[in-house]
Order: sequence, then structure tokens, then C-alpha cells
Amino acid sequence: MIDAKRIKEKALEYGAAAVGIGDIALFEGVSPQRDPKMILPDAKCIIGFLFRVPRALYRTMNEHTQYMQYTQIGVKYIDEDLSEIFLLKMGALIENEGYDACLQRNISNLRIKGDHTTNPELADTYELVNAEAVSPGKPVPDVIIDFQQAAAICGLGRVGDSGHLIAPGLGPFLRMAFIVTDAPLACDPPFGETLCDHCGKCASACPGKAIGGNKVNSWQCAVYYRGAHKSNPFMTKAFLENDPEREKVLAGEKHFDRESAREIYKKIDFLPSRSTGYIPCICGRACDMACYRHLKEKGVL
Ligand code: SF4
Ligand code: SF4
Repeated sequence: MIDAKRIKEKALEYGAAAVGIGDIALFEGVSPQRDPKMILPDAKCIIGFLFRVPRALYRTMNEHTQYMQYTQIGVKYIDEDLSEIFLLKMGALIENEGYDACLQRNISNLRIKGDHTTNPELADTYELVNAEAVSPGKPVPDVIIDFQQAAAICGLGRVGDSGHLIAPGLGPFLRMAFIVTDAPLACDPPFGETLCDHCGKCASACPGKAIGGNKVNSWQCAVYYRGAHKSNPFMTKAFLENDPEREKVLAGEKHFDRESAREIYKKIDFLPSRSTGYIPCICGRACDMACYRHLKEKGVL
């Protein structure tokens, strides 16, 4: 017998920091390319899981003592290994009871057709520009659900001005995974107002000025996430040597779009990423650190 209580108990036992169940009906009106019902037409609910990223991994980056541990453990391991093993175990629990479980890990390097943003964490992202629906009524593959929307529907948290999900207890230090299922589970109410109070501290903390007007320029973020800023301890004078815009770039004053970001990627190579495809974070996720400190001081987390 599977029910919401058992799912939640098992999720916590298997390593999730938080779990919530959302009503699939709340996705009404979303693009077919984001719609979980396009993955499983008789889905009844979506189960959301949050994984904790240890706070100290952010702290060491911000104290300029360690960078690779965050990238390897806080990003790659959780998305590539932990969440997959976790989802397979949770999925087996559901499918053993006769229901389907569509497992949704973070598809970090793909973008649906029409989504021109990028993911700073990866060497690059690929937009599915050539995909077409195979018949009327079918979505253009791949369907990739919006994790932030799904987390809010599952009652787990809501996105802040930093562009990242903020959850009670965890703040922005988290990763997500989901299961779309036809199991008839009791659903939680969606998350209410965001915990973000629009203080602007994330925007001020970003060395690349990637956050502004409650929006994040993902390409700008990607350039500075990789370390094109003065506070990068691995930078030498050789970086952008003889480039008349060097000082402008280092000060976060140059605006990057998809083309110019990809152009400067070739010159930003401070820590190894070739073995994994995951870019070491050299901005220290300063936006999230500032957000966490602010919300902690306020007593919100
Ligand atoms: S730092 Fe302030 S503005 Fe930015 S996400 Fe956090 S609470 Fe919102
Ligand atoms: S602080 Fe880093 S992760 Fe945050 S917006 Fe700026 S570059 Fe991106």
C-alpha cells in the first residue's frame, strides 16, 4: 500500500532533505514542452524532492580557500549520482505497487526549443532547435519540466530575485528532483509567497552584475561564474592581456549575450572541467551566500 505518508518517510530515509506532493492539475496552461502530463498523460501528481547542498561548500568558496569541492559534490555528485540512485529507489517503491513513476533528474545541459538561456554550471548548453512534434497533439521533444515551478506546486519553496529557489530551512542551498506519477497520493498545497523580500543583496554580491530588475542574465552569469572577475584568485596578468576591454570585463561592466559569452569562454580556463563537463564555480555563488546570510539574520530560515 502506497500513500503520501509512506512516500515522504521513504524519501527522507533515502536522503532527501524535504519532500512535497503537488497536484498535477496545477500545471494547467503551461507550455506542452514543460507539461508533466505530456510525459505521463494519466498523471495525478508530482512528487518533489530537495537535496541539501552543505553550507560550508559555499563558505569555503567565499573565503577563497576551496572551489572544487562545491562543484564536484554540491553540483555534479548530487545531480549525476545521488539524485539518480535516489529516484531509482523511489521509483521502484511506486512501481512495485502497480503505478508508473517517471523519474525527473536535472537535465542540466539541455534547453527546450525556444529557450535561449544557458546553465552556467555546464561547459555549454544545447538548445533542441531541430526537434519537431511527431504528430498533432504531441509536444516537441524533449519535454523538460520547469523545476522551479514544480517545486512551488509541491509546496517546497519559491524562486527569489536571484533566480534560484529559496526553501525553508535550506535557503538557496539545494538541488531538486521529481517524480511524475499516476499514483493517487494526497497532495500538499502549493508554496505561498516567496521568502525573497527583494532586498537586492544577491544583485550587489554578484561580481558580474548578472542580476537586475528581478531577472538574471544567464549568459552574463555564466561568464562570471567561470571567473572573469577581479576576485578570482587563479587569474594572472595573462588573462585578456592586450584586450582593451580587460578592465571593463573584470569590473563586471561589459554586457554578455549568447554569442559574446561563448566567445570569451575560450579564454576562461582557470580550473579543470574537461573530465566532467562541469564548470568549477569561481564566483563562489556569491548571490546565494548573500541571500542565505540575509534571510538567516532576518530569522526567515
Ligand atoms: S538576496 Fe534578497 S533579493 Fe536576492 S533572492 Fe535573497 S531575499 Fe531576494
Ligand atoms: S554570483 Fe555567480 S551564480 Fe550568482 S548571478 Fe553572479 S555569477 Fe551567477
